[in-house]
Amino acid sequence: MDLKDGVGAGPETAAPQIDVPTSPGRAVLRRVGAAAARLARKASDFVVPPVCVACHAPLLDHDTLCPSCWQQIEFIRPPVCDRLGLPMPFDVGGTMISAAAAADPPVYDRARAVARYDAAMRELIRDLKFHDQQHARRLLGRWLVEAGREILTDAHAVVPVPLSRLRLWLRRYNQSAVIAAEVARRAGIAYRPLALVRTRRTRPQPGLSAREREENVRAAFRVPRSRVPEIAGRNVVLVDDVVTTGATANACARALKSAGAARVDILALALVTDRVPTVR
Ligand SMILES: [Zn+2]
Repeated sequence: MDLKDGVGAGPETAAPQIDVPTSPGRAVLRRVGAAAARLARKASDFVVPPVCVACHAPLLDHDTLCPSCWQQIEFIRPPVCDRLGLPMPFDVGGTMISAAAAADPPVYDRARAVARYDAAMRELIRDLKFHDQQHARRLLGRWLVEAGREILTDAHAVVPVPLSRLRLWLRRYNQSAVIAAEVARRAGIAYRPLALVRTRRTRPQPGLSAREREENVRAAFRVPRSRVPEIAGRNVVLVDDVVTTGATANACARALKSAGAARVDILALALVTDRVPTVR
């Protein structure tokens, strides 16, 4: 899916069109040059050798990882806490709620994530954030749909966590929107990139304590009035790259529920799992 699909990508910097009078010979040369450039671009699509999406080691297939990077990713597998998506130490059967979720229930209903936030996952997300990696997008999209199977089955809308305009402009695109669009496309669910907006600028969350994070993003999101019909009465899957304390996910879920969302589930690439959950 095109990155600019409704995600309000940064300002366009179209090259200025300058009309310089040229002789017919020059015009022909220019056309030949342009055709050659087009051909070169097409050819490069075929000859780019497949490499590991994370470490760029040569591979036989596109859109995958080398065995070493695979091993470094700590995939989250069942059993997990039904609310927070944290891996549980053992399976007691049925739906399990961790003590952390029981003590401090999140605003969202359920969270699911692909992997713990460490090692190769950190690299993959960093690449996605700053280099617009098409290959990473496809691989991560596959993983997200797999990790989110439960929450995607009866979902009506996929919504990315929005970036502030400034950050969107600086980074050129919103990585959560990139993976959310991929999830929506693969799962056949409506993609709603404009359903949630930031109402004010927030500080970057890394480096802040759990309480500071919560304060930082409080009331920082809302559903624009014109977008309420996309959300009201719907089961919404909110997509983010990393869930750390859940402060952003909670603030977004609060806004979506205020707009009438029937359910808000979180789907993330990575979950910070420093809390060791116990079964309750
Ligand atoms: Zn690798």
